[in-house]
Amino acid sequence: MNIFSGLEKFGLKSTESAQLFGDSQKETVKKDNNTVNTEQEEKKDVPLEQDFILEKTVRCKVCDHVFKTKVIKNGRVRRMESDRDLRPRFQYIDTLKYDVTSCPVCGYTAMNRYFDHLSSGQIKLIREQIASQFQPKDGTSESTYTYDQAIDRYKLSLLNTVVKRGRDSEKAYTCLKLSWLMRAKAETMPEGTPEEKAAKAECKKEEEEFYFQAFEGFQQAIAKEMFPMCGMEQSTVDYLLAYMAYHFQKYEIASKFLASVLTSPSASRRMKDMGLELKEEIIAKLRK
Ligand SMILES: [Zn+2]
Repeated sequence: MNIFSGLEKFGLKSTESAQLFGDSQKETVKKDNNTVNTEQEEKKDVPLEQDFILEKTVRCKVCDHVFKTKVIKNGRVRRMESDRDLRPRFQYIDTLKYDVTSCPVCGYTAMNRYFDHLSSGQIKLIREQIASQFQPKDGTSESTYTYDQAIDRYKLSLLNTVVKRGRDSEKAYTCLKLSWLMRAKAETMPEGTPEEKAAKAECKKEEEEFYFQAFEGFQQAIAKEMFPMCGMEQSTVDYLLAYMAYHFQKYEIASKFLASVLTSPSASRRMKDMGLELKEEIIAKLRK
């Protein structure tokens, strides 16, 4: 599976074997002039998602274009219980969809927290490999993003991170959020017909693919980067890795990361409780 599939419509065709982690010096993006648009409108019965959204003006670090981007009005959203792997959930809106800023002119894209942080060397790389080929999409004046639009934005962000030779943690975190978005998208997909079932299964398959990339990426990141990582303390990343290892049935790795959470003096009570719960499940699996 080419994890960058879907970006062809922006004029960006990544090589099939584009490596996410490890040192890949070769060009990541190939030229392609085909533009395909297969976006689906998604119906929402949630009360007015746009009420939670604010337009913020930003200046692109790569091409200097000034544009508006959608951000969440933090004071308005109400947090609900997160998934067991810490995927955040909010009432009436999936805030994850709005966590990426993308320049509509040159294609430079990054998660909000990273958007303004670029070295001159990275700007050069993005000009050469993204901006030179990027095909702007017209008519993007919607007040909210669909899951497909959000997924495209994150994939663009991931490709930018590879091109700018960003940190493993940034790539891993983007993959994690992509898998969360696909999980959320799948939750909205109907299963009435065989075609709908197949589409949902495909979405779940892609979720797994990005989840595995995140698992691999965070393991590489903790070997060479400092905490906090993507805004997360060590105990949070350790718990996340323990849960992902559990998901992939790598129980020894899961136990190792869990031990780190449970003995950490700085882990929160809640994190330790979640860790203890996971530990019970791992023990049960190992007994089988
Ligand atoms: Zn730009």
